[in-house]
Amino acid sequence: MKEIQWKTKFEPFKIKVIEAVPVTTAAERLAVLKRAAYNPFNLPAEKVTIDFLTDSGTGAMSDKQWGALMAGDESYAGAKSFYRFKDAVTSVTGFANVLPVHQGRAAERILFGVIASLKPGATIVSNAHFDTTRANVEANKMEALDIPVKEAYLFDTPGPFKGNIDLAKLKKVIKEKNVPLCVMTVTNNSFGGQPVSMANIREASKICKENGVPMFLDCARFAENAYFIKTREKGYQNKTPEQIAREMFSYADGAWMSSKKDALVNIGGFLAFKNDTAWLQKAKEALILGEGFLNYGGMSGRDMEALAVGLTEGLDENYLAYRIESTAYLGEGLLKAGVPIIYPPGGHGVYIDVKKFLPNFPQSKFPAQSLVCHMYKTGGIRAVEIGMLMFGRRDGKGNWLPAEMELVRLAIPRRVYTKSHFDYVIEVMAHIAKNKKDIKGLAVAWAPETLSHFSAKLKEVN
Ligand SMILES: *Cc1c(COP(=O)(O)O)cnc(C)c1O
Repeated sequence: MKEIQWKTKFEPFKIKVIEAVPVTTAAERLAVLKRAAYNPFNLPAEKVTIDFLTDSGTGAMSDKQWGALMAGDESYAGAKSFYRFKDAVTSVTGFANVLPVHQGRAAERILFGVIASLKPGATIVSNAHFDTTRANVEANKMEALDIPVKEAYLFDTPGPFKGNIDLAKLKKVIKEKNVPLCVMTVTNNSFGGQPVSMANIREASKICKENGVPMFLDCARFAENAYFIKTREKGYQNKTPEQIAREMFSYADGAWMSSKKDALVNIGGFLAFKNDTAWLQKAKEALILGEGFLNYGGMSGRDMEALAVGLTEGLDENYLAYRIESTAYLGEGLLKAGVPIIYPPGGHGVYIDVKKFLPNFPQSKFPAQSLVCHMYKTGGIRAVEIGMLMFGRRDGKGNWLPAEMELVRLAIPRRVYTKSHFDYVIEVMAHIAKNKKDIKGLAVAWAPETLSHFSAKLKEVN
């Protein structure tokens, strides 16, 4: 019988355990938001209907992962779970030397500590450092330099691989500065979860090799990146995401992963090296010092079991098609509802371009944060601001400075929400788009010097 291509896309899983979605009244939301000082990080999750704060560690595990938890071997050394975890990482990445860590930033703290001890004051170059990556580079007194392609800044201009690194700049920076490492972040989180092409990874690797500079992948979303390559880059249509991922890693000297993303677990990560180098030896010492012994490094045996299973599930083609297409569904729905977004939508989230959405909103009144609060008030939706509050620049006299970008990120947890949840979000946003005048501006009442957005307190202004 001929296979028919059905048009209806459905979630490629069915539901075995459920968690009730909180339903609140408008009066409740207003009171809760006020108590949270207009900062979504202070909202109790039990008052959030749709939680798009982050896609990190918020995914749903499968029956196989829950089953694997019972097989967790909690031996301190030589646990079976460690070997299952290590074999899974090696089979996906090709890297033989695998260190477990509790999450991505632990790998960053270890790696950049090692590099800074060998090359103080160096420059790390990347298509774009994620916030924790940058913070760990800078905490080790090195420079974190982002050199994305120009298209990365053109929010409404479509392009297949807006996450790429600028190869000409890479050559130049390596010649002019003391560069011990090039980091390719896949997908490019800081620029909307846009993918990096295989050609770009291959060329960057070539430039790095010619200059004796190691290249690592910050591979939190490597599976989503592999799926974008499959669907957008010539020559990869008939390859599996696993084969594509393997080729991506083949150009690198190592990688680290926040497994809270594409490995579909709530906690975990790894740092892996192709070769047994001085970096590896020093990293092992730092792992034992700060995370735990080489065979568990901050994870329990059961965490490593769930991660091993999740790495494979994250590469499943049906899952990835659903993941990427459902994000696109939300993005296209918002666009149709009159909400401009970074286009095309990335893998793990949709980013609203607030400067374009609210062109007349005063720059000094935290436009993106104001929209975030209004989305919560209107529909119980929690998102996150990427704008003047997050960038946190002040003039020295306590006045907040406008930011180049005013974005609202709707980060989508994996395998958690269904199409009807997305339809609800689109309906709420369409209502907001028609009633923009109801959005109230904000001022900061109190904020710490660094990483202000996590704990800042704000108030509404007229
Ligand atoms: C999440 C993330 C990290 C940090 O990982 P944590 O698990 O949150 O510590 C690093 N890099 C990228 C690209 C990420 O998305």
